[in-house]
Amino acid sequence: MSAPYDLVIENGRIWSPTASYVADIAVRDERIVGIGGPFEAAKRRIDAKGLEVLPGLWHVHCHFREPGHTYKEDFETGSRAAASGGITLCIDMTNNTPHPTTLETFEEKKGLVAPKAHTDYALYGGGLYPRTVEALAGAGAIGIKVFNTRHIKEVYPYISELGVLDHGVLYEIYEAVRDCGLVASVHHDDPEWCKRLTFRDYIEKGRTDAMAYHESFQKGYMYGHGMVAGLAASLYYARVAGARLHVLHLGVMPVGAYEMIRHAKHDLGQDVTAELELASMFMTREQMEKVGPFTYSWGHSPEAAWQSIADGVADFLVLEHAPHSLEDVEPGWQDNFSVPLGMTGAQEFVPLLLNAVNEGKLTLHQVARHVAEQPARTFGIYPRKGVIQIGSDADFTIVDMARRVSFRHEDMLSKCGHTSWIGMEAQGAAVWGILRGQVIMQDGVVKSSPGTGRFVPGTAAKAR
Ligand SMILES: [Zn+2]
Repeated sequence: MSAPYDLVIENGRIWSPTASYVADIAVRDERIVGIGGPFEAAKRRIDAKGLEVLPGLWHVHCHFREPGHTYKEDFETGSRAAASGGITLCIDMTNNTPHPTTLETFEEKKGLVAPKAHTDYALYGGGLYPRTVEALAGAGAIGIKVFNTRHIKEVYPYISELGVLDHGVLYEIYEAVRDCGLVASVHHDDPEWCKRLTFRDYIEKGRTDAMAYHESFQKGYMYGHGMVAGLAASLYYARVAGARLHVLHLGVMPVGAYEMIRHAKHDLGQDVTAELELASMFMTREQMEKVGPFTYSWGHSPEAAWQSIADGVADFLVLEHAPHSLEDVEPGWQDNFSVPLGMTGAQEFVPLLLNAVNEGKLTLHQVARHVAEQPARTFGIYPRKGVIQIGSDADFTIVDMARRVSFRHEDMLSKCGHTSWIGMEAQGAAVWGILRGQVIMQDGVVKSSPGTGRFVPGTAAKAR
């Protein structure tokens, strides 16, 4: 007789991008070993009757601020917040100090965060020097993140330092990314354009408060048309270089971005993917007015954002987690152009997503596709992750579509201690988070210890 299973999940409805069915799942040695059942002799059983069993959900846009800015967040608090919300894998960004743009600083970051993670995690390598891309890929970077931007007032030095504005350098990074088979994930911009017009119409006129900032955003000055213009150049250079491009901040950008990506993907057959920022649908004007500088974007054109999912323009769905401390952000009520810009989303992402399912705007099939399977495919981690099938890692986000959540500052596990979604309510929440067969969250309470999460290297990682 074979050894007992480590875990059996019974009676739940299992979801993939194309199907759903009620079956039991058996787990042994961190992997899914059976789907169907009944499975006897398990060390632990979870009754998921009435619950929906999704592949472990990914948060692909985290800023956990380590190293260098850990007074805002660190890898332990950030990944704990994500685990609490129902995430099983986080991808962390690169605007750290020191930034992980060389083998040495990337390895330093890997070493620092390894004992802290509650979820599995992957790390972007910082795209700044074309000559270091190969080493970052070899060290396990999941992709290369490029900030094709800088802050208009340089109040955000750790982004400006990372800014790649020279298109020749950008092109060489694309060549290097192509050669190692990774994806270049880019925050596009034309910061000189943005700076000139924002200064002309706002800052030089003394209009700097939070509502002036948000007006400039709506007008397409801050995080606006410059991003789309940057995207246009980047799409072209990526195509010439033959590099895979992943477009960040779809939904933040004005609507011209959707058509450009649609054209590149569907007319030109270019290898490009895009992640849709859900704040572009969920952050209402009313909520924006309430939180002011505690969000940098809001939904200027939600219909177009929803349509981008239906059109196959958006590949991933995400709610960016870019926390700053209260002290960092509060002065933004008076001068929003002089404070770091961000929002929270690690803990709030899954409930807000499920709320949209309850409202009939999304399906759980789409959640399985855009928040698990597609990211796993793009980064080359499929089918080890991103899917519920025999042989895959036993990562599950089990959700209760009836559970109600309301967002309160005091419930947030992020070190920043606040939420951009304060006062909003959601119906639908994760009630179990399971990582490689281990329960890391139950009813929102994180059960894992720091260091439970493992590093997930990208496809160019060299065995070491
Ligand atoms: Zn970001």
